Amino acid sequence: MYDLSSVRADFPILSREVYKRPLVYLDNAATTQKPRCVVEAIAEEYYSVNANVHRGVHFLSQQATDLHEAARERVRSFLNARSSAEIVFTRGTTESLNLVAFSYGEAFLREGDEVVLTVMEHHSNIVPWQLLRERKGIRLRVVPMNDAGELDLEAYRNLLNERTRLVCCAHVSNVLGTVNPVREMAAMAHACGAHFLVDGAQSVPHFPVDVQSLDCDFLVFSGHKVYGPTGIGVLYGREELLEQMPPYQGGGEMIARVSFERTTFERLPFKFEAGTPDYVGTHALARALDYVSDLGLDAIQCHERELTRYAMEQMALLPGMQLYGTAREKDAVVAFNLEGIHPLDLGTLLDRLGIAIRTGHHCAQPLMERCGVEGMARASFALYTTRAEVDAFVAGLDRVRKMF
Ligand code: PLP
Repeated sequence: MYDLSSVRADFPILSREVYKRPLVYLDNAATTQKPRCVVEAIAEEYYSVNANVHRGVHFLSQQATDLHEAARERVRSFLNARSSAEIVFTRGTTESLNLVAFSYGEAFLREGDEVVLTVMEHHSNIVPWQLLRERKGIRLRVVPMNDAGELDLEAYRNLLNERTRLVCCAHVSNVLGTVNPVREMAAMAHACGAHFLVDGAQSVPHFPVDVQSLDCDFLVFSGHKVYGPTGIGVLYGREELLEQMPPYQGGGEMIARVSFERTTFERLPFKFEAGTPDYVGTHALARALDYVSDLGLDAIQCHERELTRYAMEQMALLPGMQLYGTAREKDAVVAFNLEGIHPLDLGTLLDRLGIAIRTGHHCAQPLMERCGVEGMARASFALYTTRAEVDAFVAGLDRVRKMF
């Protein structure tokens, strides 16, 4: 296990105060704080390297290109992809999902084809598929879950059929924390000839993710949730699929040759990266991946799982506590309601105590409907969260509870 106090010292924001109280930041599923090395990577590049990538013959441009492509290689090794041609940089999970929906949709989906989602998907893994349904007349099928927040694999098996083309599933639910058995689900999808996409937004920051071992066809994640900068994200795609998919956007960087009659496209992955990329963001993302790898994702997972278990145990002792998501495989997120208190009031009152949590529908309204609520409160943990912070949070909950 790493040394928590020296790790916390890497994150300057964690020592600030809000309302004259020490900050207790428990909104890590929304975004994580950044270690000094990530912020420094951004500053260093702007101070001493900055130049547009891929186009220049001059020194700085080549250096910036080298950093950018080294970052791609870093992502490849982090995910254990076969080739860096399989790593496409995007703005984040949302853009990666829209890219797949648009481009895979163009190449592979016809009217009447079926795409399978799950009831616990984030809106960004629902709405792009609905937009595609409008354009293409595909059918969306939804895997249900049990009351513990575990997907019903029997129902999933029954949904798969010869019209199923693609299954899209969150690796970890951003609300329930459920770790879905995506390896097993991918094997079931492949057995019926369908492809499998993993939304790794909430898994990549928390435990080792290996695309070859999962045997998934696509995997997407966001830099800002894994201690990297905002505005940068990743799409991993199996090379033979990406080869068959048309570009998502047109512009510079993604072309081989342009004339008014005809344009040919760059090789992978550049075909999917129109315009100047966020080359500073990719470099800083690589630093963030180095940071978590140096601590060890196994150690991070072990720490966060222990905290989650402890938090749930302590929270369950409070009268009127309703916990959502009690799956056997659960990670770093605890969603809840306190009887008689609107989650928004709860979040606002905790905030005055310096405790940052998230409240509302968590971009998962179908899941809220399944749970029969309008909204929930959610605390989510990170590699730097301490037991003392969990204690402060539970004490805060108790204090708020007694006000009502
Ligand atoms: N998918 C999941 C499971 C998420 O938790 C999130 C963000 O909360 C997203 C997708 C969207 O990520 P982004 O807003 O970084 O594109």
